[in-house]
Amino acid sequence: NALLRAEGISRSFGNTPALREAAVSVNAGEVLAIMGPSGSGKSTLLHCLAGIFTPDSGEVWFDGRRLDTLDDGSRSELRRTAFGFVFQFGQLVPELTVADNVALPLLLGRTRRKPAYARAASWLERLELGGLGGRRTGELSGGQAQRVAIARALVTGPRVVFADEPTGALDSLTGEHVMELLVGLAREEGTTVIVVTHDARVAAGADREIIVRDGKVTDPYASGIVR
Ligand code: ADP
Ligand code: ADP
Repeated sequence: NALLRAEGISRSFGNTPALREAAVSVNAGEVLAIMGPSGSGKSTLLHCLAGIFTPDSGEVWFDGRRLDTLDDGSRSELRRTAFGFVFQFGQLVPELTVADNVALPLLLGRTRRKPAYARAASWLERLELGGLGGRRTGELSGGQAQRVAIARALVTGPRVVFADEPTGALDSLTGEHVMELLVGLAREEGTTVIVVTHDARVAAGADREIIVRDGKVTDPYASGIVR
């Protein structure tokens, strides 16, 4: 019952192979950590699973549909409606308030203002940000900004949240708290989470981890490397 699956995907940048026949399968509701050395292909794998990059060869399937062969319009529609994203630097709009940033994906999806801001406020509460809705995001601490990014990623009710080093810019205590919030909320919502991380403590909060090395996926359990 895989929700998201990549089969034998390869992707090069010029002459640099980033992925070499990588395969991974993620079940609905699962929290998967992707670990591995810098430059091993983790981000490229995440981007291929999320339909941001298309692989040069191989297949990506989401919910019974071929994702990699969809046209650009359908792929971006799918990303907007079914996926949420959290990156290392939250990519918030600094000129907008916290509430505006969280409501934005709903407003772009044509939710009316009032329900959009009501849902944003409720997600801000759940991320321990109640009361900060009127602040500019530029005034926030790193941990607060990442929690806003998580609220924004979850507000549309996505099936899958993709996170690329979401705690990479935070100190380890703050990072752990941010991950606990993300994973806890995702579990409450039944949302699948795929997180790229260097941090073993972040990976320890996942249901399963895979390791990417030289563009290939290793299952640490299959190869006997168990944390
Ligand atoms: P990781 O996330 O594990 O650090 P990446 O997926 O970012 O690895 O990168 C894998 C390889 O592909 C690296 O050699 C990297 O330099 C290269 N690469 C990734 N993205 C690009 C890009 N946009 N242009 C050129 N090379 C890239
Ligand atoms: P990470 O290790 O967290 O993946 P990177 O610094 O490798 O971060 O990559 C950050 C961004 O830069 C990614 O979007 C990746 O695709 C791009 N990138 C990585 N390597 C290269 C490269 N050699 N040339 C151009 N873009 C790259």
